[in-house]
Amino acid sequence: MTDCIFCKIAAGQIPAKKAYEDDDIVAFHDIAPKAPVHLLLIPKKHITSLFDAGADDQALLGKLLLLAPKLAKEHGLEAGFVTRVHTGAAGGQEVYHLHVHVLGQPAAA
Ligand code: 5GP
Ligand code: ZN
Repeated sequence: MTDCIFCKIAAGQIPAKKAYEDDDIVAFHDIAPKAPVHLLLIPKKHITSLFDAGADDQALLGKLLLLAPKLAKEHGLEAGFVTRVHTGAAGGQEVYHLHVHVLGQPAAA
């Protein structure tokens, strides 16, 4: 997917403020945050949207979701956070590479 901005971020071809990376997943801060903490968790593999995920992606999708609370806690969201996955035009999807939003407000110190 040479024209996919999130593939380019996953490949390190476009800079992003990374919060996490392993062999399968990259997480980074949203460029236009809608909350004090706004992370995007993406598979390195290009999956266009949830509509395009298959049975082969089951473990990867589980891994993405399980990473959400771990990163949320690391960013001060122990009190709770919001996850969002936009799917398709009517679902508000703007970037067509599957991603999980993690949003929240850290508890006051
Ligand atoms: P969607 O509506 O597709 O779920 O959301 C896409 C998100 O990606 C938006 O919140 C937008 O701000 C973010 N985004 C788009 N382009 C970039 C980029 O180049 N870098 C980063 N870090 N975030 C981006
Ligand atoms: Zn992609």
